[in-house]
Amino acid sequence: MNYKLLTPGPLTTSETVKKVMMVDHCTWDNDYKVITQKIRKDLLELANAPEEDYTVILMQGSGTFGVESVITSSVGTDEKLLICENGAYGKRMKDIANHAGIDAVVYSEPFNKIPCAKKVDEILNEDKEITHVSMVHCETTSGILNDIESVAKVVKEHGKTLIVDAMSSFGGVVIDMEKLGADFMISSSNKCIQGVPGFSFIIAKKEALKKCEGKARSLALDLYDQFKTMDIDGKWRFTSPTHVVLAFAQAIKELQEEGGIAKRYERYLNNNRTLIAKMEELGIKTYIDLEHQSPIITTFLYPEIHNYSFNEMYEYIKERGYAIYPGKVTEADTFRIGNIGEIYEEDMIKLAEIIKGFMEEKANEM
Ligand SMILES: *Cc1c(COP(=O)(O)O)cnc(C)c1O
Repeated sequence: MNYKLLTPGPLTTSETVKKVMMVDHCTWDNDYKVITQKIRKDLLELANAPEEDYTVILMQGSGTFGVESVITSSVGTDEKLLICENGAYGKRMKDIANHAGIDAVVYSEPFNKIPCAKKVDEILNEDKEITHVSMVHCETTSGILNDIESVAKVVKEHGKTLIVDAMSSFGGVVIDMEKLGADFMISSSNKCIQGVPGFSFIIAKKEALKKCEGKARSLALDLYDQFKTMDIDGKWRFTSPTHVVLAFAQAIKELQEEGGIAKRYERYLNNNRTLIAKMEELGIKTYIDLEHQSPIITTFLYPEIHNYSFNEMYEYIKERGYAIYPGKVTEADTFRIGNIGEIYEEDMIKLAEIIKGFMEEKANEM
């Protein structure tokens, strides 16, 4: 059965993105290498990262592979990482550090609060051993949009290396890499660029990337070695997900045709605020305050109705053409709705109608 994904990636892609995958491409062929090089160049532009100072590395695997590649290739054995955490993806960074035996400390906030620059400043003043700071931009766990700008400012004042997981925001929220001053920014093929799953990409400051030489704990995830091979002429170090790469190139083209990230942001924001308003009419409230609510994904508290069951609601909605997402925050009963991908205002209105129908059906059961 065909349904649209209201999940934060994989998400609903366009027909044209799916269609370009009907070709088997050779990996060492020049046409293919040119596609990789074009993707790298386009991503720099989308991130407003000038070519003299920044570069892009594509890495096989899902988004986590990209985050793991950056953390395990950039934080050396005599260095220390500070992780700002307010959700599952921040916690995953700690897990990555633990697996690699990397010295890491965590600064935690509750899932509905953003990490605070002042606290980061205090921690950096107290612990002089810290060399790197990492944080998530849009915490997909809750849908909160963290303030990377204010934290980046503090991290740069202290002269530390900054790693940003912008997995679910890059392409959907304007990020000015140069102004931000981040050293590494990670995202993946199946989120706001609207491609299909298969690789992650890292936008890196060349100066910071150079310092990764010889530091990696893993062969396949060695960010510097991946860069060195790819930068010759666009050939990937090991087998690349060719179909995914073709789809991604098409997805970038469609993002440009839409009018770039600022325009896509407008569509996502309109989707999101329409959804929240419609849900409010049904008495369904958001977990995150509107001030920090991302335009990507929203956590909603369970509706206060008799006999409510998420699974029942999920099936009811799916039969009518949409897949939603279970909640991931721990202290409240919630579900999540993503509004990225080939999703428009009319989908949000339709979804709210479906949920209304479900609630009415439930009320009649009494
Ligand atoms: C999707 C996502 C990831 C990566 O998850 P994968 O399942 O490995 O693709 C990492 N961080 C954030 C914030 C995400 O939204």
